[in-house]
Amino acid sequence: MFDRMKANLQAELQQIKTAGLFKEERILVSPQSAEITLKNGKKVLNFCANNYLGLSDHPRLIAAAHKALETHGYGMSSVRFICGTTDLHKILEQKISEYFGTDDTILYASAFDANGGVFEPLLSPKDAIISDSLNHASIIDGVRLCKAELYRYANANMEQLEERLIMSQEANYRMIVTDGVFSMDGNVAPMDEIVRLADKYDALVMVDECHSAGVVGPTGRGVTELFDLRGRVEIITGTLGKAFGGAIGGFTTGKKEIIELLRQRSRPYLFSNSLPPAVVSAGIEMFDMMSETHELQDRLHHNTKQFVSQMQSVGFDLKPTKSAICAVMLYDAVLAKNFADMLLEEGIYVVGFSFPVVPRGEARIRVQLSAAHTDAHLEKAITAFISVGKKLGVIGG
Ligand SMILES: *Cc1c(COP(=O)(O)O)cnc(C)c1O
Repeated sequence: MFDRMKANLQAELQQIKTAGLFKEERILVSPQSAEITLKNGKKVLNFCANNYLGLSDHPRLIAAAHKALETHGYGMSSVRFICGTTDLHKILEQKISEYFGTDDTILYASAFDANGGVFEPLLSPKDAIISDSLNHASIIDGVRLCKAELYRYANANMEQLEERLIMSQEANYRMIVTDGVFSMDGNVAPMDEIVRLADKYDALVMVDECHSAGVVGPTGRGVTELFDLRGRVEIITGTLGKAFGGAIGGFTTGKKEIIELLRQRSRPYLFSNSLPPAVVSAGIEMFDMMSETHELQDRLHHNTKQFVSQMQSVGFDLKPTKSAICAVMLYDAVLAKNFADMLLEEGIYVVGFSFPVVPRGEARIRVQLSAAHTDAHLEKAITAFISVGKKLGVIGG
């Protein structure tokens, strides 16, 4: 049997390669940081990690992880409800609730699991989910696992959202679902309008804060802080794998009864292993740091502003951003790839994105800023962008 399958798999892989969509993995031999070392020994500045606060190699998190290895061991060898819950898991859940101003929190192995396990326990075929068309793959998969009726609206399009709310009025419960920050453009969901429409049409709201938590809002509490809506959103999902240390782990935080039911019924929680103590302990340390100061957010916001204004002043076309994601628009897929390759030669690591990850004709380089970037790092990156931009005729001069 495999002989037949093998030929088909080979053909499919070849198709991916011919279309220019084959993903190669670049191998790092250093910790994740503003500066990283590649396998060939080359040191480059990293502008494509989700390491928004520069915590991936932070000494306090490393120390906290070490400490828990000593006190709580390496692995939990259990799901939470059998024997996989430690005092540390409960403390981290509490810290996350305090951070977001919510009632309670449930941890998962990833945000992919949090989103995969949130809809099915809460919604039945009598209910409706109204989902932004650019929501993350894990939301799309989670929605597929649940029997509620699905309505989609164009990205951040509030007229369409209102239409869908009117169309779905027969449903028992309705839930509007959106990413907080959309990862390809860096735009934020218009949460003020979403919550207003949810109130008007009596719907629940769920927001996925993976790219916004730690980043967006004056103190990094995410889009509910940015729009002054703390406590007004029923469900927030997020990750420990981006701004919050970048290791692994996800969570759902929100209304008490929702979280309690998820602990009873959510399949990725019930049937997948508990987070390791080292990760949980570093997570606790990280939220302690977040409650002491928002210096890292200040630095990140400063870096983003600097990058955007300097790039625009030399003639680059950037999508308006409200996050730490900056889309440098090049519109042509081959150009975007060549641009990224040439930047790497100049010591700047970024990635070009083209169709089908972004719409056809909207190829771009996505730059992700970090609090770990210094002024010198930013200057080096912008100088490299200018040099490559001139060579490729993207900007004048
Ligand atoms: C990264 C991301 C996820 C997945 O997070 P993991 O914890 O890595 O599984 C889910 N939703 C959004 C919007 C994301 O950006």
